[in-house]
Amino acid sequence: MSRFDDLREQMVNYQLAARGLHDQSVLDAVNAVPREEFVPADLVEFAYSDSPLPIAASQTISQPYIVALMTAALELKPADRVLEVGTGSGYAAAVLAEIAEKVYTIERHKILADTARSRLAALGYRNIQVLHGDGTLGWPEHAPFDAIIVAAGGPQVPENLKQQLSVGGRLVIPVGSTLRTQKLLRVRRTGEHEFQEEDLGGVRFVPLIGAAGWEDETAGARAVEKTEASLPELIYQSSEHFARIDDANLDNLLERIGDSRLVLLGEASHGTAEFYEMRARITRELIEKKGFNIIAVEADWPDASHINHYIHGTAPDPLLESTPFSRFPTWMWANHSVLEFTHWLKAYNDKVSSPEKQAGFYGLDLYSLYGSIEVVLNYLEKVDPETAEVARVRYGCLMPWANDPAMYSQAVITRQYKECESDVVATLQDMLNRRMDYSRADGEKFFNAEQNARLVTSAERYYRTMYYAENNSWNLRDQHMFETLQSILAYRGAHSKAVIWEHNSHIGDARATEMSARGEFNIGQLVRQQYADMAYSIGFGTDHGTVAAASEWGGPMEVKQVQPSHIDSYEHVCHEVHADNFLLPLRKPIKEITHRELLAERLERAIGVIYRPETELQSHYFYASLPRQFDEYIWFDETRAVEPLGKQTIKGIPDTFPFGL
Ligand code: SAH
Repeated sequence: MSRFDDLREQMVNYQLAARGLHDQSVLDAVNAVPREEFVPADLVEFAYSDSPLPIAASQTISQPYIVALMTAALELKPADRVLEVGTGSGYAAAVLAEIAEKVYTIERHKILADTARSRLAALGYRNIQVLHGDGTLGWPEHAPFDAIIVAAGGPQVPENLKQQLSVGGRLVIPVGSTLRTQKLLRVRRTGEHEFQEEDLGGVRFVPLIGAAGWEDETAGARAVEKTEASLPELIYQSSEHFARIDDANLDNLLERIGDSRLVLLGEASHGTAEFYEMRARITRELIEKKGFNIIAVEADWPDASHINHYIHGTAPDPLLESTPFSRFPTWMWANHSVLEFTHWLKAYNDKVSSPEKQAGFYGLDLYSLYGSIEVVLNYLEKVDPETAEVARVRYGCLMPWANDPAMYSQAVITRQYKECESDVVATLQDMLNRRMDYSRADGEKFFNAEQNARLVTSAERYYRTMYYAENNSWNLRDQHMFETLQSILAYRGAHSKAVIWEHNSHIGDARATEMSARGEFNIGQLVRQQYADMAYSIGFGTDHGTVAAASEWGGPMEVKQVQPSHIDSYEHVCHEVHADNFLLPLRKPIKEITHRELLAERLERAIGVIYRPETELQSHYFYASLPRQFDEYIWFDETRAVEPLGKQTIKGIPDTFPFGL
């Protein structure tokens, strides 16, 4: 077997069968044609990649998946006679000839027609005839045809081609009102004068130029120029497309990330599987290829530390035990995508012997006021029972609100109760004063306890101010997350590198959004101010699908339909690109003009743990300038809800209502 046989088989499995193409005759046909013989010599190594490739005369050899999809749509039988318009390299003709009895193919560029003719002959195809001419006119001498396939996009279905179909015949053709975007149509001749038309989905082909196609090459150029003004078209040209998360080629992304010490990965909701899966995929590459060793997420410190123990082999799997993730919103971490990722992290750490290189999993958030108090007290009891006693009395100040910390704020405002700030700060100070003694015994345990004591001081302030200082509590939270991140980086040493998983609204630069007008900043802004180009932030977006979210704070998880995006939103523009998934570099744009066109503010959607489609515009959209907010944007046109691991238990506190981020 040659190396190409292997690649070809993989292509059939991963690009075709995995995408739902199961027509065995088509899979066999694709498996029989050596695509490497049809691509330019300098591109043979890409012969089996999941994309169209350039050939002579500024044309392209179609993406294998598209050839297979169209061939399957033709419903070919062995005795069929087929007409192809747009021979190009001759590749699709060869695939067709593997199934059908005879293939007639027409190409308007002489150089391509001639090359394809001799190539196909050399490969031994005796049942293909190549003509140089205008395929929109068909090939009347050999009509009627059982099937006609057009490999270029025209403004309408050419009448000549319809007339050259036999009754029962199928014509598959991309048709569209612009030069580059089309719908794939299947026209079936059901009677002498009857035709049925079906829409098989959005596609992109080179223009069909001829009597019943677009005018000519120069008209083509003019129209291309015109479409350059369209933003979706520019995004299409400026983005890297991928079909499946597992197969996405991230080499260019890794290059753009370069030597960054921090990579921030966002999400446009807290309940979308693709966002988790893509972040996991990118994080795995960053760990394996660039030595990242910190994963810092929007979860509370003590909860994340259970996962950290598990991936270091010092505790059972907390996601399966589900103990720490029983508090609202459970699905944010107790879901299948996270489970799979933490299993990978454990397997990775098992392989890596140096503790410095092992990946650690940390929580940046501050909601676990009472959980953290417990950790600090347990720790102190073991290392210094006397200090523990003092700490217990001090933390006692907060105990009246253990069931509902939000009430603490009320009590302090109405001066019914004293503030606990000095008590919690004093406990932290006590610990820091004894840092040397404590950490000599066990540095890691001290670090864990210290972070919890810090969390208690931030959370005390957060809950105390949450009602009277509107943006202040948001800022406190993001300030805490940033400081926690700094502590982790310092603890893991000068060579440490961190991936941060948080909602877009935390990791995108707040200065590029409406938030800044409200006086709010976020961790994304703080990171940029501190690390500049050494931090790379990636936002995520989607148009429609399903999402896991609650209707109100503390409510049960529901699988909700995500509404198609608002017409004035970035999401709408991305949806108009008509590509399933893509990476859109913004810091180093593939085309400058795309960057410029995207700068003007548009709406952007944020779904948190709460989603209210009924009041979507007010509750979930805000204005932002995408290229100023992120260094890159990852798009999934359609997405699905995360799958929660266990039963949802619901209790909680009003937090960042109405966004619930
Ligand atoms: N099936 C080809 C893909 C070719 S791309 C392959 O597998 O390689 C489409 C081709 O259609 C281009 O080569 C273009 O030159 C050709 N084309 C466009 N308009 C045409 C027309 N009216 N008649 C014949 N060929 C045309």
